[in-house]
Amino acid sequence: MDDMSKPKFDKSFTNQEPIPEEGIQRAVGILKSGKLHRYNLDEKEIGDVSHLESEFSRWQGVDFCLACTSGGYALQLALRAIGVKQGDQILANAYTLAPVAGAIHNVGALPILVEIDQNYHIDLEDLYSKAVSSRSKFLLLSHMRGHIVDMNKLLKICVELDICLIEDCAHTMGAKWDGKRSGNFGKVSVFSTQTYKHINSGEGGFLTTNDEEIAAIAVILSGSYMLYERHGAIPSKESFDKVRLSSPNYSGRMDQLRASILRVQLPRLEENIVRWNRLYQKLFKNLSKVEGITIPDRVDKEFYVGSSIQFRVNIPSPEEIERFLNSCARRGVQLKWFGDTQPKGYTSRYDSWKFFNDIPHLSQTLEILRNTIDMRIPLTFNEQDCILICNIIEEELESSEKTNQVVYY
Ligand SMILES: *Cc1c(COP(=O)(O)O)cnc(C)c1O
Repeated sequence: MDDMSKPKFDKSFTNQEPIPEEGIQRAVGILKSGKLHRYNLDEKEIGDVSHLESEFSRWQGVDFCLACTSGGYALQLALRAIGVKQGDQILANAYTLAPVAGAIHNVGALPILVEIDQNYHIDLEDLYSKAVSSRSKFLLLSHMRGHIVDMNKLLKICVELDICLIEDCAHTMGAKWDGKRSGNFGKVSVFSTQTYKHINSGEGGFLTTNDEEIAAIAVILSGSYMLYERHGAIPSKESFDKVRLSSPNYSGRMDQLRASILRVQLPRLEENIVRWNRLYQKLFKNLSKVEGITIPDRVDKEFYVGSSIQFRVNIPSPEEIERFLNSCARRGVQLKWFGDTQPKGYTSRYDSWKFFNDIPHLSQTLEILRNTIDMRIPLTFNEQDCILICNIIEEELESSEKTNQVVYY
C-alpha cells in the first residue's frame, strides 16, 4: 500500500474542548464590567478568584489554596515558602518537564536528579542513596505524566530522612493513591491549569497546603499587597501578622477572567476523568497487544487520570525511531519522543538543561526514555479515534521493522 491509500487520522492532538457556555457567559460579564483584577471588588464582594480558591480547596480536601499565574510560578513560590535558600540541594526525579528545572533554578537551588524506573516512577533506591549522600532536605516530586509511585514507600523515606516533600501535580489533578488525592501527601503541592492539563484557563496554577505559615507566606509572595484578607482559603490573621512584612511581593496573581472559566470546569472534572480513562483504556488495550510495544502496568492502588499515554517501542536505533515517528505523523498521528537528544516542542530531556552545572549521567533513565513514546489524549477524541490511532501505530511499527530488516540483511 502506498501512503495515499492508507487511512489517515485527521483530528488535532492539541485541540481541547471548548470552555462550557456557562463559563463563556461569566467571562463576558467580567469583560463588560472591566473588573478583571482579583482585588478590584466592592466592599464585601467576593471575587471569582477567591471563590475558585475555596472551591478548589474543598474539592481537593485541603485547608489552604492560592491561585496564581501558572503552575511553574506556583512551584517557585512553593520552594520559597518552605524556605529553600540559594545553594540548597533539591532532590527531583529526572523525568519531568522543563518548568520544574526552571523553578529550581529560579530560587538559586541545585537539583539532585534521581533515576526513574521501568514504570516511569522515581527510583526509590536511587532516591534513598542520593538523599543520604547529599543530605538534601527537599524532594520535588513530579507525578510525571500521571504515573504515581508507591506513596507509602516514598513517605517512609521522607520521614526517615526528614525530607520535606513538594508534589508537582500538573498531571495528577483528580488522581489518587490508595484513595487519597494526589497532592495531599506533601507539605505543599502545586497544580497547573494550563491548556493541556486537566482544567484549562490558558495559563494558571494552584498552590495547596495545610500548613498555616507556608500558606500565609505564599499568599504574600504572590503579590497580595495587604489585601490578603479577601482570599478564599487562607489561614488566620495571626499567621499573616508574622510574615507580612518579611515576605516580598513577587507579583503573580490570577485574574478574575481565568478564575471564572475555571470555576465552571471544576464541577465537571470527575466526569471528564471518567471520559479520559475510557479513552486511555481503549488505547492501552489495543497498544498492549501490538508486538514490539510495552506499556507499564498500573497497580490497583493507583487511580490515574489518563490524559496521556506512554509506551516503549522495540526499535533499536534513534534514526529508526525518528523514521517511525515521521511516518505516523504523515498519517496524522502526532507522537512525542522523550528519548530525543534534541529538545523539541514541549519535550526536553534532563540532559539538555545546560543552565545547571554537573548534569549527571543517569544511565537507567536514559535507557528507559530512549524508546519512550508519549501521546496526548484530548477529550475531543472518541473511542473510534483511539482504534484508528492504534491501527496506524501498529502498521507503521510493522513496516518500520520490515524496512529495518532490509537495512540489516
Ligand atoms: C505543565 C507542567 C508544569 C508547569 O505548569 P505551567 O502552568 O505550564 O507553568 C510543571 N510540571 C509539570 C510536570 C508540567 O507538566
